[in-house]
Amino acid sequence: MKRTKVVATLGPSSQSEEILAAMIHAGLDVVRINTSYGTAHDHAAWIERVRAVAKHEGKALGILLDTRGPKVRVGPLPQALALQPHAEVLLGGHGIPLTQPEVLEGLRPGDRVLLADGTLELTVIGRESSGVRARVVRGGTLVSGKGVNFPGTVVPISAIIEEDRVTLQLARDLEVEFVALSFVQRPEEVAEAKELVGSGPAVLAKVELAAAVERMKDLVAVADGAMVARGDLGVEIDPFQVPLVQKRLVDQCNAHAKPVIVATQMLKSMVDWPTPTRAEVADVAAAVWDGADAVMLSEETAVGKHPVEAVQAMAQAACAAETGEFPIRLPGLAPELVGEVPAAMAKAAVDIARQVRAQAIVCATVSGWTARLVASFRPCVPIVAVTPHAHVVRKLALVWGVTASEIPRVEDSEALVEGALRAARELGVVGSGQRVVFTAGLPFCTPGTTNLVRVVET
Ligand code: PGA
Ligand code: MN
Repeated sequence: MKRTKVVATLGPSSQSEEILAAMIHAGLDVVRINTSYGTAHDHAAWIERVRAVAKHEGKALGILLDTRGPKVRVGPLPQALALQPHAEVLLGGHGIPLTQPEVLEGLRPGDRVLLADGTLELTVIGRESSGVRARVVRGGTLVSGKGVNFPGTVVPISAIIEEDRVTLQLARDLEVEFVALSFVQRPEEVAEAKELVGSGPAVLAKVELAAAVERMKDLVAVADGAMVARGDLGVEIDPFQVPLVQKRLVDQCNAHAKPVIVATQMLKSMVDWPTPTRAEVADVAAAVWDGADAVMLSEETAVGKHPVEAVQAMAQAACAAETGEFPIRLPGLAPELVGEVPAAMAKAAVDIARQVRAQAIVCATVSGWTARLVASFRPCVPIVAVTPHAHVVRKLALVWGVTASEIPRVEDSEALVEGALRAARELGVVGSGQRVVFTAGLPFCTPGTTNLVRVVET
């Protein structure tokens, strides 16, 4: 049974109902819709289709809407531009057009500007009335639409652009499970997004800018989870530092029992080939051992030739790393959580499960918090979460090791245990006559009240 969750990006390769269903069978847990492509109308239609397929397949699939963010791109160029090393160019004004020329205001002489995923590089010389003059350091051919990065610069625009407001409203209206904020720099932006989506969707901070790396702690404190967005991150900071940032961010999220996704280029060769490279399999295993809740596929499933095989390979690579032979490196819970009743209960449940050789830990949870706390200890046995909210069931699709199910609200504690164990059996996680550790907050329905741990027989 796979414990690390798999996120796959929807795209032309994976939009059909057949492929979606096959990806679910291959181990898909969360579908990502990248709103950099398509209109809000398209996004709504895709959400509806994904939900219909998930329902048909009986899968509690989560949906993640990924915002555009202020990704700056080269505007329309009449023709490809050959940038020669040492040449001077003008950015903005009458020179190379940018989709968001206001970012130029933050630039100072000596700042680096990277174009086309960092393949071309410029250094800022100075400002002019109509733009910014720069010298070509690494030349090449520039075409319209290429990405522009300003590594290390705090960009004077919000992570939430106009189109993203529409996306956040859609997330709120359709109650999607997750929203990922691209190019976030400040915790205030996460707070604003949370305000805009309301209480339903969880807001994940994508760490892909140097400014976000610097404020990682503050971002994780405000967000509901995070993503190591290695694609842009490797352009914005020294790419050789990306694995260290990955480990730091994963640790930070684990310590706060918030879900964290490791993303981008995990199985990149599978865009073209039906099997992954050894290095890619090792990268997935390393993410699992780092403590990732989920691993993500981007182009592999969006535009690749083998979307189903990619999900399958991701699931298999994660499974192989999860045998327990090598422990997941955990940072331990943050000091502010240790000593709180729910964290103590979760830890006790995990300890007791190990000592009495229980087959599973079953959590009755209203908000999903107890299940997340239990998962943060990475127990060897399956975690079953039962909750009265279908939306919480789908949100737990992103949490390591948790299988969730919806049960009716009951007040009586015996009825609650019974309902929870029945759900665990129906999920196929436990059989009858087995020992499990049961944990709940009573009265059930009041969030954040874990106060009960019991050992029970199914
Ligand atoms: P993107 O984000 O795919 O939306 O760019 C992920 C990343 O940058 O790694
Ligand atoms: Mn990105």
